[in-house]
Amino acid sequence: MAEKSFKYVILGGGVAAGYAAREFAKQGVQPGELAIISKEAKKQNSPSNNFSVQFSIILFSCSAVFIGTPSSGCSLFLILSKLTSTVIVASSSGIYITSLIIAAIVVAPYERPALSKAYLFPEGAARLPGFHVCVGSGGERLLPEWYKEKGIELILSAEIVKANLPANTLVSATGETFKYQILIIATGSTVIKLSDFGVQGADAKNIFYLREIDDADKLVEAIKAKKNGKAVIVGGGYIGLELGAALKINNLDVSMVYPEPWCMPRLFTSGIAAFYEGYYANKGIKIIKGTVAVGFTSNSNGEVKEVQLKDGRVLEADIVVVGVGGRPLTALFKGQVEEEKGGIKTDAFFKTSVPTVYAVGDVATFPLKLYNELRRVEHVDHARKSAEQAVKAIKGLEKGQSVDEYDYLPYFYSRSFDLAWQFYGDNVGDTVLFGDNNPQSPKPKFGSYWIKDGKVVGAFLEGGSAEENQAIAKVAKLQPKAENLDALTKEGLAFACKI
Ligand code: FAD
Repeated sequence: MAEKSFKYVILGGGVAAGYAAREFAKQGVQPGELAIISKEAKKQNSPSNNFSVQFSIILFSCSAVFIGTPSSGCSLFLILSKLTSTVIVASSSGIYITSLIIAAIVVAPYERPALSKAYLFPEGAARLPGFHVCVGSGGERLLPEWYKEKGIELILSAEIVKANLPANTLVSATGETFKYQILIIATGSTVIKLSDFGVQGADAKNIFYLREIDDADKLVEAIKAKKNGKAVIVGGGYIGLELGAALKINNLDVSMVYPEPWCMPRLFTSGIAAFYEGYYANKGIKIIKGTVAVGFTSNSNGEVKEVQLKDGRVLEADIVVVGVGGRPLTALFKGQVEEEKGGIKTDAFFKTSVPTVYAVGDVATFPLKLYNELRRVEHVDHARKSAEQAVKAIKGLEKGQSVDEYDYLPYFYSRSFDLAWQFYGDNVGDTVLFGDNNPQSPKPKFGSYWIKDGKVVGAFLEGGSAEENQAIAKVAKLQPKAENLDALTKEGLAFACKI
């Protein structure tokens, strides 16, 4: 089997990979030095004739291609036209023009958060190439051509199934070997599935999870097929809340189920959550708390029909979306690199215990300087910044230049309906709630501060302007004193704006 060698390999083709590639280009990378290996690829539609043709790569701009031997036993020449999306199949038994639509899209690194937001809109939906990195942070959109121009190899549809860190090699599912001098692990997370817990019927059709673009495409198809149907969202985290809104906007009858006393319990206080639950209820979303899905029934087509809850209730469902959390994809490296808190342990430059290997994004457990502890952060802002930091460190080492330690201020955000919130810092200690958190208000704007040892360490704001969001970020970073919580509640956002 083929072997390829690169100076730098980024394993994973998600957010961190894209931002790392841009940083490599900034710092200077020679053509052929850098490869991005990713299992993600857009699936092709099947041709509507008798031939079973499997594409193993996405063809972006090709004129004539020979594709192996099809199941019919005769050789096929496919002439693919990027302009007409028409496939002419010439075989010993004649010429066929199929109705296959070629989605001439290369799944180069993209801004993953779009998948649970604009990607699912009924009108004006976001589609690639519209949201390739780095548009999510206001940067240049890196189209597949950009990688080509820079001589960065995008190796897509390539799942790595074996990593041998002492030998600096990775092996793909098709048996290809990739050698590297420096590896950046950017494999992100995978979803936790209900079938992992043995929930009965959890493998029925139309039960969805959302991580990659292929998952989002399947969900979009189901939304079209089940127009005005019933949807059940299992999970009340940010995926559950964003998906609940997206499906409601698509005119489905939405119910949300989660076991906790309120939504987003890992971040939201009961006061914050009460606003979102009220707002969702006003939109007609039914919220069922304090119970879990314990089973699913399906119809004769194998499609989900009902969700059975632990408290005995049964919900009808045409579509179920499950968002019950993620798990970092570190299994390939088990026993080969130090781990901590469920992730791959790194230093402040994202170097792991193996000096030729770096880990960034969701998989990295890194020193969070501000709080003087090791943390793993599963959010997009950190994926971008950790990737940039790792590349700066790699190139800095080569050039003999020193690089500052990573000094990260945790930042998360979410958007649904007309709402948008941001959170900065740490959600520990006492809390105060300020502002207009009436879910019926035409323009609600409210927030919370977290106060520990007399200092404000975290801040949340719904409906803030860019300046106001910057103000709460500054508060979380500078941690000003605030001993009187009543006064802080009264002052509210003005407290942040004066810092
Ligand atoms: P990813 O972006 O997940 O990329 C990992 C890549 O590695 C993928 O391309 C994957 O296919 C590839 N890969 C994994 N294993 C292999 C292998 N063995 N071989 C080859 N390739 C492999 N964060 C926020 O802060 N705000 C949001 O609003 C928000 N919305 C989100 C919405 C959704 C639907 C999802 C799924 C996540 C959202 N996040 C959000 C989280 C954020 O997107 C992630 O934290 C971020 O994408 C992590 O970047 P990453 O590069 O580490 O991993």
